[in-house]
Amino acid sequence: MISFLKGKKIYSILLCKCPRCHEGNLFLVKNPYKLRTLDKMPKRCPVCDLDFVRETGFYYGAMMMSHALTTIIAVIIHFIVFYFWGWEILPHLVFLITIILALFPINFRIARALWINLFVIYDPKTGKDLSL
Ligand SMILES: [Zn+2]
Repeated sequence: MISFLKGKKIYSILLCKCPRCHEGNLFLVKNPYKLRTLDKMPKRCPVCDLDFVRETGFYYGAMMMSHALTTIIAVIIHFIVFYFWGWEILPHLVFLITIILALFPINFRIARALWINLFVIYDPKTGKDLSL
């Protein structure tokens, strides 16, 4: 569907693919709402052998990405709720808590994908086609 974006960082981030080959999955289980396996990642990319755990505690930085994403979502929710209810605190709290909690698994994974994409660039030569 969004394969025309392959080669761009947004492809790797949105689909949680390896940032170097855009083929291997960053997470062992694709569905982020299976909370038991939410953070389970292979140690290396199954296609290009990129080390996903670059150093101990590498993904601590992803918390900053998660914070930024949550802030963006909160601002958007604020403007939508403000448009309909004005400065009422209850609708703000209800919508913020509900939507932030509902999007947490996606936010978590996107934040990790964003973080590793800061350090790795796309290299099509490492993809499946040329490794045969
Ligand atoms: Zn890879």
